[in-house]
Amino acid sequence: MTNDVYARQIIQAGKDLGITPRGIVIAFATVYVEANWLNYANSKVPESLTIPHDAVGSDGKSVGLFQQQVVWGNGAWWWGSAADCMDPYKSARLFFQRLATKPYQAATTDVAAGAIAQSIQGSAFPDRYAQRMAEAQRYYDRLAGGTVPDVDPNRPPYNEFPIWSENHYDGRSGVTIDAIFLHTSEGFVGRDDAAEALSLWYQPKSRQVAYHYAVSQASDGGVTVVDNVDTDDASWSVLSANNRSINLCFAGTQAAWSRNDWITKFGNAIDVAAYLAVQDCKKYGIPTNVIAPPYTGRIPGISDHRYVTKVLGDGTHTDLGDGFPWDVFTAAVKKYATGETATPQPEPKPVVVGPADDQLNMRFHCLGDRTLVEAVAVLLDKELGTNNAGKPGVVMQ
Ligand SMILES: [Zn+2]
Repeated sequence: MTNDVYARQIIQAGKDLGITPRGIVIAFATVYVEANWLNYANSKVPESLTIPHDAVGSDGKSVGLFQQQVVWGNGAWWWGSAADCMDPYKSARLFFQRLATKPYQAATTDVAAGAIAQSIQGSAFPDRYAQRMAEAQRYYDRLAGGTVPDVDPNRPPYNEFPIWSENHYDGRSGVTIDAIFLHTSEGFVGRDDAAEALSLWYQPKSRQVAYHYAVSQASDGGVTVVDNVDTDDASWSVLSANNRSINLCFAGTQAAWSRNDWITKFGNAIDVAAYLAVQDCKKYGIPTNVIAPPYTGRIPGISDHRYVTKVLGDGTHTDLGDGFPWDVFTAAVKKYATGETATPQPEPKPVVVGPADDQLNMRFHCLGDRTLVEAVAVLLDKELGTNNAGKPGVVMQ
């Protein structure tokens, strides 16, 4: 998911500024050349080191995916602030604002497109952009043709951004991914920024632990997803099962939580976790098979850390614990796997009230073959001494 998260933000920025696919592909080629999809800080821009980044460079005062210069000459901002130039969406906007002033749609050859990129970037190696255009086009086609969250009508609302952790292996040693495991964090409970705080905590290697995703729900119900490890790499989460699994941590939860705790505090996060799990199941060919305690089923599928302990026989952890609402999670997985929420619910129709209800027209044996109205008239006559039961019709007003 690593590059895809950035790429989708670039696509969104392009769309928001009315840039055509050709222009977005030029932006992709530029990112391949400038940063190879790593969000760079710069050792000469101290502020940049405090902003989430994937790598630290030292080229001029360039930062971010597009290697935009943050400081120029006497210290005035050139492209923008370090924060903007390291924000994939905002930095893409800065790029596209300049691109929009160029005849980029007429640049139909790789060389012409590369020249457009060079006119914006001013690189010391002007030929490199053209060389990456084919790769950029393939990547764009894959994203635009695949399941892109910003056009997926099923996608639940959540914010997503990366804080990459060092605690992973590169790749998976040739092991096929066949499981998604869910976890609690135990710490950071009650914090609106739990996913971000947990991610920052286990960013350095000294922690020796990380997950692919940290997911938290704030007190206002909003869900945050932080990407910590690329799913193509193995996170350090479940001992000997690392290479075969994708791991998602509910940041700010505890295995001791009750069912009510989970549903009231993390109901939206559980829904988002189900959505993410289904996306990765599709991506890696894992069946959307939820294996809940007492684990009568077996992976491939989606389970929790306790499965690793109890069934795979490694470690001692018992998260998610006994209170996790597996029925709710399983229903959400089914919903996203089948796409049934894409079917619009029929609009509720107003109840049409006719001139008279059936019950008022019908005669009842139990009322002496009278209608309800006639029976009431008989009762009133008897109670009040009147003689109205035989009169027909209604009083007109
Ligand atoms: Zn765990």
